[in-house]
Amino acid sequence: MDDNKEKFGRRDDSPNFNRKKVCRAHSKKVVLNYRDPDSLKRFVTERGKILPRRITGLCAKDQRVLTREVKKARVLAYLPFVKK
Ligand SMILES: [Zn+2]
Repeated sequence: MDDNKEKFGRRDDSPNFNRKKVCRAHSKKVVLNYRDPDSLKRFVTERGKILPRRITGLCAKDQRVLTREVKKARVLAYLPFVKK
């Protein structure tokens, strides 16, 4: 029973595990594009706000790209501006 705890959620995307972050967009694990709102959704809150860099783990360059793509996606109604 307790074994499952170790296996679950202990991978490198754990937010409170202090290790060097490799930018996910740079490592091509995620594509930041307004045409792909499903992947952008992982970088916004349930309310539609863009997550800060300390949480997304992106580098400065990709965070800027993300912001731009999310805003484009909002204009095209792929993502909500605000969701209540
Ligand atoms: Zn990057």
